[in-house]
Amino acid sequence: MVQRPRGTADVLPPESQRWQWLESLARQVCERAGFGEVRTPTFEATELFSRTSGESSDVVQKEMYTFTDQGGRSLTLRPESTASVVRAYHEASLSGVHKLFCIQSHFRYERPQRGRLREHHQLDCEILGTDLPLADAELIGVAWSFLSEAGVEDLTVSLNSIGDLTCRPGYRRALQEYYRPHREELCPDCQRRLEINPLRLLDCKREGCQALKAGAPKSRDHLCPACQEHLGQLCLLLDQVGIRYRFDDLLVRGLDYYTRTVFAVSHGALGAQSDLCGGGRYDQLSEAIGASPLAGVGFGLGLERLLITLGDGGAPPPPRLYLAVTEAALEGPALAMAIELRRSGLSVEMELLHRSLKAQFRRADKEGFDHVAVFGEEERRSGLLTVRSLRDGTEGRYPAHELAERLAGRRSGL
Ligand SMILES: [Zn+2]
Ligand SMILES: [Zn+2]
Repeated sequence: MVQRPRGTADVLPPESQRWQWLESLARQVCERAGFGEVRTPTFEATELFSRTSGESSDVVQKEMYTFTDQGGRSLTLRPESTASVVRAYHEASLSGVHKLFCIQSHFRYERPQRGRLREHHQLDCEILGTDLPLADAELIGVAWSFLSEAGVEDLTVSLNSIGDLTCRPGYRRALQEYYRPHREELCPDCQRRLEINPLRLLDCKREGCQALKAGAPKSRDHLCPACQEHLGQLCLLLDQVGIRYRFDDLLVRGLDYYTRTVFAVSHGALGAQSDLCGGGRYDQLSEAIGASPLAGVGFGLGLERLLITLGDGGAPPPPRLYLAVTEAALEGPALAMAIELRRSGLSVEMELLHRSLKAQFRRADKEGFDHVAVFGEEERRSGLLTVRSLRDGTEGRYPAHELAERLAGRRSGL
């Protein structure tokens, strides 16, 4: 049989219900904060990503799914959404401040890991058109709210500033001066990065390179007054909002268009792989794709990893009712009842294989239904349903229109 490609996943019930719950929560949190949804094409001109990932991040380019279409154009499945959102902003001739979010899949040809597939899904939030630290704080607040409402505990924000065009060149030189005498101790990738993009040395996970990081110069010590002011304001705002943060001098973004704020939101229990969300400011991205200057700050939050973190927690089960039918002749009226109940908001399942009442109860129990109602001649005549909770065995007899309200209001029992 033909199988799905490596690094992809099928999502089936009940897992798909958890996805729906999480995506719907993400939409609610974003919309409450005034973000509107944007959807961008699955593939873009390759140039959009090759320009923004820069010559220094050949890894990203090697990982891209790039192909030539029948018309001879080079296209790429999006490896991230920020460049697409910025492109869409300009292409729609938007101006001023816009807060946009998207929930879409991203594609990267890399070794698949748990929570990191070749096609993976992400919530992205972007605030475009303002460089004020208030935007950074609001954005971090959205990530924080979403993760805590999803049920993640022990959240911490790691924060750094990597400066701007004024002060970063000085910091790059300081890094190069520090690392050059240790050139031989660095991994081959870092030896190359040292000349092209020394900030990425702080990202390297190899042992030899790790050891050197401790003494490396910190970007916070090289910020110009404007960048210092920006970071100071952001910290003040986070304090006022009550968001816990700590400085992480090794938190950097290797791409040139990133400016000032870099942040990650992590969760205690996952250990080394605890980052759930990464983001930062990218005031130079717009010019990198050939558009007019546009300040922006955004984050990406991987949904696969979040679902793994949440485990069985998080998703409140929707009330589900199993409508058991006593005889085949009553299936039509029972289906009519099911449709009425579904319209009032209940999730209702019925027997599709003509099995005995006993077998129907077994199935309802096995598949974890909250409630069962038996539909027989008496129910057809009266329009009343006797509903039994499969959790605590309590029973009640109600007209259909009351049922949805009762089940939704009291999920455990009646
Ligand atoms: Zn290295
Ligand atoms: Zn600066």
